Amino acid sequence: DVVTMDKIVALCKRRGFIFASSEIYGGLGSTYDYGHYGVLLKTNVKNEWWRAMLQERDDIVALDSAILQHPDVWKASGHLAGFTDPMVDCRTCKARFRADHIAERQPGIVCPKKPSKLPGEGPDCDLTEARDFNLMFKTNVGPVESTSSVAYLRPETAQGIFINFKNVMSFARKKPPFGIAQVGKSFRNEITPGNFIFRTREFEQMEMEFFVPPSEAPHWYETWKQERFDWYTRLGIRPAGLRLREHDADELSHYSSGTADVEYLFPIGWSELEGIANRGDFDLSAHAAESRTKLEYFDPGSGERYVPHVIEPAAGADRATLAFLVDAYDEEQVDGELRTVLKLHPRLAPVKVAVLPLVKKDGQPEVAKEIVQALRGLMQTEYDEGGAIGKRYRRQDEIGTPWCVTVDHETLTERTVTLRDRDSMTQERVAIDALPALLAGKLAA
Ligand code: ATP
Repeated sequence: DVVTMDKIVALCKRRGFIFASSEIYGGLGSTYDYGHYGVLLKTNVKNEWWRAMLQERDDIVALDSAILQHPDVWKASGHLAGFTDPMVDCRTCKARFRADHIAERQPGIVCPKKPSKLPGEGPDCDLTEARDFNLMFKTNVGPVESTSSVAYLRPETAQGIFINFKNVMSFARKKPPFGIAQVGKSFRNEITPGNFIFRTREFEQMEMEFFVPPSEAPHWYETWKQERFDWYTRLGIRPAGLRLREHDADELSHYSSGTADVEYLFPIGWSELEGIANRGDFDLSAHAAESRTKLEYFDPGSGERYVPHVIEPAAGADRATLAFLVDAYDEEQVDGELRTVLKLHPRLAPVKVAVLPLVKKDGQPEVAKEIVQALRGLMQTEYDEGGAIGKRYRRQDEIGTPWCVTVDHETLTERTVTLRDRDSMTQERVAIDALPALLAGKLAA
């Protein structure tokens, strides 16, 4: 396969998708800033998630809860006590590792501080016993630093949903089965972040909690595994690079009766994109006990009262964005030259159409700008008149623009343009007036 993580990182920087954060200060490890095309791409990913959750069904409502929450939220959820990773240190070089990651990678790690004869060879790090490291970022709310002002940046968006269950029940006119969906930033003080935007300390999640009558939980667990798998393939991920992996019994959290990961074949190997879990009544019961608030469903018709069970699909917006980038990346030989192209699904592509005058004279720029005006508001459109046409096509190929409209000398007499398809590179002649409807149709397909 042609794609490597280095090529993705290089393209993202070269074309303005994603930059290392705080670059002019030497960078801050594993934090990233999204540039213009990166913002457009990630926004499209999140919008497609919202579309699948809200527009394409009528049993889910939206929520946007605060990042800072009452510290008891994390007590009830179990994060204060148990949201930890096993950490080991090297006594000599002070490097820090996640114990479970060391085992995955290599038996020993060469310690940079210990003397060795050959570069890259030498004694292993002298590792301490593993100890639990809590991944939550701690801060203080208000001007006084005291134990009573401690707060945490949320390490997941899910708890904001559970603590709003009662609010939503009282206004949403929904009864189980129904869901609450949320997209937003989460923070984890990961011991070993890395692999570009795959694992960072600040990231965006797309989570949905689906509340169901307990007897229906197995059915909805199966349904959501399939739904979420299909979402990725519908948006262009090759099925051969995607799999659903059911957790073994020893991987399950104590409250979960089933968890499966949607995994993608990244250049670093099969890795989690999203987890779908059958969480039972663990979350609502825990928050009900901690807050002394009834968190249950009462059916006025049957008089039945129960704590709904929860099916949770939890995805990462940045990780999904990375998967779409990796999957779309392609290199081809065209007329003896290398063409790099992002074959992104048109709905994910940052720019849908580029309008290009063949030459910067003879009235061509004017007509091109008129076309841009007609497409404005309909879809993300870009105008580019600088440089050779071949170079401009290559640039659009690299940012994944599915269609290029070229204005040439015929345009001025015939009011037609060429419409170039990114993947096949074929061109067809199209009437200017037909363009908006034609492109809108292709985008909706
Ligand atoms: P991992 O095993 O990779 O640490 P996790 O199982 O802890 O992930 P969850 O708590 O299930 O992850 O979070 C749901 C999703 O949020 C993940 O599937 C992933 O897409 C995303 N996510 C979690 N942690 C990170 C991170 N540090 N950086 C980027 N995305 C993340």
